[in-house]
Amino acid sequence: MTQLFPVPGCRLVRVVRDGPTAITLVAEATRDHARCPTCRAVSTSVHSRYRRRPANLPASGEAIRLHLEVRRFYCRDPACPRKTFAERFPKLLARYAQRTRRLAEAQARTGLALGGQPAARLLAHLAMPSSATTLLRTIRRMPLQKPPRPYVVGVDDWALRKGRTYGSFVVDPERRRPLDLLPDRSAETWAAWLRRELQIRLVARDRSAEDARGTTLGAPVAVQVADRWHLLLNTREMIERWLARAHPRLKLLPPTMAPRLSTQRIRAYPRAPAETLARAAAVGRCGLLPVW
Ligand SMILES: [Zn+2]
Repeated sequence: MTQLFPVPGCRLVRVVRDGPTAITLVAEATRDHARCPTCRAVSTSVHSRYRRRPANLPASGEAIRLHLEVRRFYCRDPACPRKTFAERFPKLLARYAQRTRRLAEAQARTGLALGGQPAARLLAHLAMPSSATTLLRTIRRMPLQKPPRPYVVGVDDWALRKGRTYGSFVVDPERRRPLDLLPDRSAETWAAWLRRELQIRLVARDRSAEDARGTTLGAPVAVQVADRWHLLLNTREMIERWLARAHPRLKLLPPTMAPRLSTQRIRAYPRAPAETLARAAAVGRCGLLPVW
């Protein structure tokens, strides 16, 4: 029976049917001792017993509820301020939790995929009922996954107060994720960050001298490249500057003798083949003509 309904750290005492759609598992700890959470001393002196009734994962569409026999132990260390303590089941459920860890994780993952209200409606059908508010609270408690260490990073400035205080932000361009915010734009801060990430091989940056110096100090073997956004920005600024300088000279040129081209459209431009195909598919799908 324990193999059919495994309960981490516990042995199954009995299985009780609670009505047509619910089962109760009565379980108790397998160990005959527990460790005081304050002084870490082992105790086998049982003070009292009580029951916890956390909700558990369902089985075959039926709700499963645990009746967990919990023992309270004496702490026999005279120096310990705690006189008694309850045994804990860290793999099974958190302190004071009313649902097992595996049920909380299943509910949180459903909530994460669907959102609060839709997940609550689905979970009610799956015998794992929970309110939307509880789902959102459970999602917020989920530990964040540690992202893989980046080999390529991008760095640029961000304004804490525009024109006054700037910091640096670091991104992972391969995964399109922000990585960190640095409190200032100094080469030393940037170099210190890079020294903690020795695997970095490529740094994309603007043409800031501080970023260049920091990269050389912190990751001397990394290749430094100008990122595409800054290349396009710099190109646009150079063209604008050149045109601003050349504009007075251009105005002095004699008027061209080329015939004036009419800017008025006399007929529709033909559609590209891909546009024609997409339009035909849209008409076939809903019988409506898209407004193009
Ligand atoms: Zn103790």
